Amino acid sequence: MKVTSVDIFECTTGNPLLDPIFVRVNTDEGISGFGEVGFAYGKSKYGGIGQVRDLAKLMIGWDPMDNEALWEMYKRNTFWGQGRDCGGVVFQGAVSALDIATWDIKGKALGVPCYKLLGGKTNPKIRAYASQLQFDWGKEHRNISDPKDYAKATENALAEGYSCIKVDPMCVKPNGVYAREPRPDPTWRTRGSLSPEVLRVAYDRVKAMRDVDPNLDIIIELHAFSDMNTSIQLGQRLEELGIFYLEEATDPTNVQCMRQVRDKLNMPIATGERMATRWAFLPFLEAGAVQVVQPDLCVTGGLTEGKKICDLANIYDAGVQIHACGGPISTAAALQLEAAIPNFVIHEVHEGGLKPEIRALCKYDHQPVNGSYDVPELPGIGNELTEKAMKEAAVITVQ
Ligand code: MG
Repeated sequence: MKVTSVDIFECTTGNPLLDPIFVRVNTDEGISGFGEVGFAYGKSKYGGIGQVRDLAKLMIGWDPMDNEALWEMYKRNTFWGQGRDCGGVVFQGAVSALDIATWDIKGKALGVPCYKLLGGKTNPKIRAYASQLQFDWGKEHRNISDPKDYAKATENALAEGYSCIKVDPMCVKPNGVYAREPRPDPTWRTRGSLSPEVLRVAYDRVKAMRDVDPNLDIIIELHAFSDMNTSIQLGQRLEELGIFYLEEATDPTNVQCMRQVRDKLNMPIATGERMATRWAFLPFLEAGAVQVVQPDLCVTGGLTEGKKICDLANIYDAGVQIHACGGPISTAAALQLEAAIPNFVIHEVHEGGLKPEIRALCKYDHQPVNGSYDVPELPGIGNELTEKAMKEAAVITVQ
């Protein structure tokens, strides 16, 4: 089998957060595989599209079953693949999309779901959590401010069967305005030192969520908008509420800062959504700075690299929560790997992914039931773009 062409789909969904970028790798045997570049958010969309155009050219004529050789080729036969963290997130975002597509082809060619090729079913049920409840939980994306609304969003998630939620309690100011754009607000400091108001408001929101259910697992997300000092201030205040883990407390590239946060708080630390490849994760694991790794399969180097990161983390007793806040192809790939790995912790269901325009992009709408997924049993990654989505997207074909 040989790769004959690669289609790159730039979708326009009307969703304020996500305009996903997908790829379809086509072969001379008529089997195609789908992948996703993880830059639907974050202002690097055209970097992702441009990089995948460059790398797609290199895979024409290769056997897509040789995912390991292809991954090495991207690293060794390009100049930037040998840069810091194997070229970094934009380079690896493109590798990720093409790599996931080759796994999809491999599964389809062999007639098995990818999890069987990644080690088989270690986790028959994939426990999931409701993510980013500061934007409410449901069909509408809106900033919520009042602790009562945080409690209500939690109740909504619990009513769907979730037993774990994630929230950034400093993300929305008391007036309902998103706290970090277009520039920092000196009256709502999340870096340097927290004001009594920020600390009180953030605590009251998380307390309202805790009061909904004493058994709820609560993940605190800080999006690295806090620093070492402010995340320690907030973390110490929240400790009494029982925190499942604390995500991106400080600069996600600085091992020493992350380790100092870990040393000062009685809660596990999570990070990894902005990291590419094992090379980025290793120093955090070696330093004991992270207990839950969060690689994004559409950013970090695909399923080939994602599996290795999970195994690396396992040596250091670190669990895995795949970062999933892209489109349905990203979710499908995550479910396949999560089914197989022994150190799986929980799957992220981002509120952005619940929106109808995102769910309609793919043939299958995999969603958790009673807070967990069954592992998709379709051959390959278990999802693909609809004909309609491909037709409506701007398409670039590389051949
Ligand atoms: Mg995050």
